[in-house]
Amino acid sequence: MNVLVINCGSSSLKYQVIDSETEEVLAKGLCERIGIDGILNYKPQGGEKEVTKADMPTHKQAIQLVLDALVNPKTGVLKSLAEIGAVGHRVVHGGEKFASSTILTEEVLKVIEECNDLAPLHNPANLIGIRACQELMPNVPMVGVFDTAFHQTMPEKAYMYGIPYEYYDKYKVRKYGFHGTSHSFVSKKVAELVGKPYEELKTIVCHLGNGASVCAVDCGKSVDTSMGLTPLEGLIMGTRCGDIDPSVLEFIAKKENLDITGVMNILNKKSGLLGMSDGIGSDFRDIREAAYAGNKKATDAMDAFAYRVAKYVGAYAAAMNGVDVIAFTAGIGENASALRSQICQYFGYLGVTIDEEANNDNKDYMTISTPDSKVKVMVVATNEELAICRETVALL
Ligand code: ADP
Repeated sequence: MNVLVINCGSSSLKYQVIDSETEEVLAKGLCERIGIDGILNYKPQGGEKEVTKADMPTHKQAIQLVLDALVNPKTGVLKSLAEIGAVGHRVVHGGEKFASSTILTEEVLKVIEECNDLAPLHNPANLIGIRACQELMPNVPMVGVFDTAFHQTMPEKAYMYGIPYEYYDKYKVRKYGFHGTSHSFVSKKVAELVGKPYEELKTIVCHLGNGASVCAVDCGKSVDTSMGLTPLEGLIMGTRCGDIDPSVLEFIAKKENLDITGVMNILNKKSGLLGMSDGIGSDFRDIREAAYAGNKKATDAMDAFAYRVAKYVGAYAAAMNGVDVIAFTAGIGENASALRSQICQYFGYLGVTIDEEANNDNKDYMTISTPDSKVKVMVVATNEELAICRETVALL
C-alpha cells in the first residue's frame, strides 16, 4: 500500500509517499509559504528535485498541488490517486486522550480540537491539513500519529509538576513530552540492532535537532522525557531556552517592560543557541563554525548545550537505575561527531568509552563505543515519516 505522510504546519507542509511493503520513498517534498505566495518542492524517487513557485492561498490548494505533482504524467510516481491507500498525519498534541495512533473519525477530530489549547501553534495547523486531505480524498482512510502518545506511559511522579493540583485537575497541566514518534522509532531500532528484546532494554534516546529532547525508555516504555507541557522545557535548543528558573520571566518582564507573550516569544524564538551566541544563529553548524573560529559566546553555547544533554542522561540513568544503550539521533545527534564525543566525556562514571574512529564515521546506524564500554553508545538515524507510515498501515 502507498501511504501519503503529511506533516502540516501553519505555513508549510512536508509530505512523503512511501510504499509500505518495500518502505521505499516514492516521492517527497515540501510546500512553503502557504497563504503568502507559495513554493512547491517535489522530488520523485531517483529524479531531480523540482522547485516551483505556485499560488497556494490555502492548505487545500497546497495539497491539491502535491497530488497533481504525484500523478503528473512526466514526473509523477503514481498513475492515479487511487494508488494512495491511506494518509498518515503527524499530530503534535494528543493530550491525555491519545496513548496511541488512531483512525481519524469526526469524533476523534473533535477530541484533537479540544487539545488545541495545549499546542496552539501546532494542533490547529495539523487539523487544517487533515480536513484539507479529507476534502480532496474523501474515501481514503486517514490516521493520526501523535508526538505525545509514546510518552503516555510516564508515571505520575515523572509527569506531575510541583504546582497546585487544581491546575492538573482543571486544565491538565502536566508534562506530556514530544518527539514521541522519533523516540519510539529509535529505541525500537536500538533493540533490533543490539539483538535484545525491546522489553528488556534500558535506552536513553538523545534526539538532538533544532528542537531537542531526551527520553528514558525502560523496557519499551517511555518513563521520562525532557520536554514538558510544551516543547520549551528541557534541553537548550536552536531558539528555545529549555529549563529555566520561572522567576527569570518576571525579572525580564519587569526590566524590559514586556508582557507574558513578549517574554514567551523571547524564550521560544530568541533564546537557545541563537540567543546564547548573541545572534550568530540557531543552526548548530553556524555555532560550531563560529566556535572553531574562536568566538567565545559560540563556544560557551555549545558547551552549555552538551552539558545539559549530559545532565539529562545522568538523570535518566538514575531514573531507570541503569542504562544499557545511549542513542544519538536527529540532525545534530546523527552528524555532529565532536559534540557527541564531548557529551560522552561526562559518562566516564557510567563506564562509557568512545571509539573515536567509529564516532567519526558517517552511517545511519553505528556503534560508537568501544567493545568493552559498560554502556553501548550508538548513532541511530531517525525516520519519523517511516514510523508514521508503519503506524498507519498497522492500524488499518
Ligand atoms: P528539526 O527536524 O527539528 O528541524 P533536524 O533534526 O533536521 O531538526 O536538525 C537540524 C539541526 O541539525 C540543525 O541545528 C543543523 O545545524 C544540524 N545539522 C544538520 N546537519 C549537520 C551536520 N552535518 N553537522 C552538524 N550539525 C548538523
